[in-house]
Amino acid sequence: MSAVLNEQAETEEVSIDRAALEARVAALREQFGELDGEELLRSAIDSEFIDHIALVSSFGAESAVLLHMVSRIRPDLPVIFLDTRKLFGETLRYRDDLIAKLGLTGIRTIRPDEEEVKKEDGNGLLWAREPDACCALRKTRPLNKALAEFDAWITGRKHFHSEGRAALPTIEHDGKHVKLNPLVKWNAEKIRGYMKEHDLPHHPLVEDGFLSIGCMPCTRRVEAGEDVRAGRWSGIAKTECGIHLGENI
Ligand code: SF4
Repeated sequence: MSAVLNEQAETEEVSIDRAALEARVAALREQFGELDGEELLRSAIDSEFIDHIALVSSFGAESAVLLHMVSRIRPDLPVIFLDTRKLFGETLRYRDDLIAKLGLTGIRTIRPDEEEVKKEDGNGLLWAREPDACCALRKTRPLNKALAEFDAWITGRKHFHSEGRAALPTIEHDGKHVKLNPLVKWNAEKIRGYMKEHDLPHHPLVEDGFLSIGCMPCTRRVEAGEDVRAGRWSGIAKTECGIHLGENI
């Protein structure tokens, strides 16, 4: 087959895949549209995507809620934790404490490729020069590789985080994956209530004013009245790292 025909066939295949994925998301919304939280997770993990779904967790300010729900459904569910090598030490210690407390056994800690880091971010300051390139190197590419074996993934995004997240659906698709946002309609009060009810520990930086916690160089405290994510990439136009921008294909 010529290169042109090859390319055409590949394009048609991608269109068919995308149409099939869109149809699946529509069917899932019809079936599970009213569910959220643990009910939605249970349906997805135990029936719809058995062995083909992972939770992606930052072990950040609100992560304990989904991790606790997963621990009650399937403690060995794959939980992907992206260690960018730029995280706060507090996050790594909190991760270890939560894993032990909840008995999670499916943790997969992934990191950026060492050779790529040497080549593209030799002095470790790419975040200051080109934050999008830094997020691609340290977050998007490693996550794409880790998600390749799954059909669906679970995120902790919520409407109240920022204007950009205010209209997110509970079930969506992202490239080749179905993406579930089981807590998307939860507010801060409901999260606090759940954590209190289940005696879940808070990330140690929360009481210090960090309400959304990512990499150390790109996270600051949030002032009263600011969006929860106002402290992420503060001072530049960037608001998302790229893993939620349809790049996971
Ligand atoms: S959040 Fe900052 S340090 Fe982390 S990967 Fe993105 S640009 Fe790099």
